[in-house]
Amino acid sequence: MQKRKKIGIIGATGSIGTQAIELLMQNQDKFLIEFITAHNNEKLLDQIQSDTGAKHSFLTTDPNYENILKSYLETLDIDMVLHAATGINGINSAYMIVDHGIDIALANKESLVTAGDIIINRAKETGSNIVPVDSEHSAIFQSLIGHNTKDIESITLTASGGPFRTRPSDSMDYISIEEALNHPKWFMGNKVSIDSATMMNKGLELIEAKYLFNIDHTKLNVVIHPESIIHSLVNYNDGSTIAQLGYPDMKIPISYALAYPGRVQNAAKCLDLAEVGELTFFKPDFTRFKALQIALDALESNSNKRFIMLNSSNEAAVMAFLKGDIKFMDITKIVELAIEEIDFEDSKTVYDAIDSSKKAYEKAEQIIKKFK
Ligand code: NDP
Ligand code: MG
Repeated sequence: MQKRKKIGIIGATGSIGTQAIELLMQNQDKFLIEFITAHNNEKLLDQIQSDTGAKHSFLTTDPNYENILKSYLETLDIDMVLHAATGINGINSAYMIVDHGIDIALANKESLVTAGDIIINRAKETGSNIVPVDSEHSAIFQSLIGHNTKDIESITLTASGGPFRTRPSDSMDYISIEEALNHPKWFMGNKVSIDSATMMNKGLELIEAKYLFNIDHTKLNVVIHPESIIHSLVNYNDGSTIAQLGYPDMKIPISYALAYPGRVQNAAKCLDLAEVGELTFFKPDFTRFKALQIALDALESNSNKRFIMLNSSNEAAVMAFLKGDIKFMDITKIVELAIEEIDFEDSKTVYDAIDSSKKAYEKAEQIIKKFK
């Protein structure tokens, strides 16, 4: 019998985590769940543990969390960790996994945005494979296999445009939390849903792509594709474009990352293009979705401290919006103001990135107070 792949899951109770659990349970002959974590939701974590037979479970809120994670990474002979926790708390976990030379299925985008160089370089040193879970990066990753990076002309990330793609600017101030969470194509956790509504998500993804694929920002672009069937494209210097397609279903990239370098069956449907009918594409509107412009400016500056401020101030502002403290359009304004007030340096180590992310978050909270 083939050896089962040993998996750990950080953020098992979330949108990505629970879909991964479903997939692993459908392929029990191929996978073994070694550990699972949640942040607060102990009840669901216990339920998942009893349903799956996962050997260990623990909470990221446990003050001893990092020591527990370290001891499991050292002793459990894990093949891959799915990192699907939200937010800047995930930076150190991502680093710890690659530091131990363990493969990572990476959904947590905040770790790459804030410490991309540090994490990627450490992964190269230890031999850890980073396989992206984000659908766009999974598409790019798959479209690069068998090709040379030097032959890339450009990479195009697709974006659905979110729930407000066609909403008139003069009504954008009155967007409710429910409307912003109601994504037309993807069912996701709250933070990434709001990021998709402001389009900051695409900005974060551009930064993620820069690090993951070691590509200059001038070769990265975005196209709006409301049907979300083409998940991203790589354009080569001979005029060929390679893309990955599929229905908008996160089970597909989750499945690809967990099974890498192979594939496993899952509950996702295969694409029927005649059923889809029409695929449409538009240029992004950088005026209505200023977050995208702010992220592009940050990319152009290629400054780690700016990526950190962008990421932390956005996270703080999204949390404030979800609490009902600020308006939807304030999120981007807060990020813009916060970027003007960076008072830390580029990070040399992962600890610098974590410290600066926390400082940046606190700075943003000060700015948010003025908007309440
Ligand atoms: P959810 O909010 O649905 O779930 C987050 C998970 O992380 C839960 O298990 C949660 O535990 C845990 N968690 C929450 N806060 C923290 C924290 N501060 N530290 C550690 N763990 C925490 O998020 P998603 O599954 O939607 O997203 C996870 C990551 O994947 C994000 O970085 C997101 O950007 C990225 N991603 C998600 C996509 C999606 O389709 N959902 C698509 C592409 C990327 P508890 O339940 O106890 O709160
Ligand atoms: Mg995405």
